[in-house]
Amino acid sequence: MTIRPILTAPDKRLKLRSNPVDKVDEEIRTLLEDMLETMYQGDGLGLAAIQVGVPKRAIVVDVHAPDDPPTPMKLVNPEILWFSSERMLYEEGCLSFPDFFADVERATEVRVRYLDENGAAQEIEAAETLAVCLQHEVDHLDGKLFVDHLSLVKRGIILRKMAKARRAQAQDA
Ligand SMILES: [Zn+2]
Repeated sequence: MTIRPILTAPDKRLKLRSNPVDKVDEEIRTLLEDMLETMYQGDGLGLAAIQVGVPKRAIVVDVHAPDDPPTPMKLVNPEILWFSSERMLYEEGCLSFPDFFADVERATEVRVRYLDENGAAQEIEAAETLAVCLQHEVDHLDGKLFVDHLSLVKRGIILRKMAKARRAQAQDA
């Protein structure tokens, strides 16, 4: 397993629409393993392949409580079949926006169809944190970021801070 570098906003690749995976093969399984390792290293709840620069429809999530054993999930070609009409506010972060958090409104429950790491079709229903996390990651596959759910003003503030942090980092280097 390899920890891969994570793209951070405003990297243009994060706005790409990712391509469906034709075949769940060894290359995809290695990608999924690397993504999990990279996500755990960054203390994230989820990661999409495009965040490590691979424009393929693959995501990993793990929303286990800090004291519980890990519950890694690997989803290839995930598709949200149903969103509950009930919605909730959840404070989201993103490994591509280090240190930024904002309240985003999403469906409280979703039903998701995907291929597992063996290429078998699966369907799950998820609620609350897992549902939010799945919606966030599937958004990434369509080039949509959590800040795109915010008002223009809030998004502007975050993106300006990101650009500033980036310039400061460049000066330090
Ligand atoms: Zn994200």
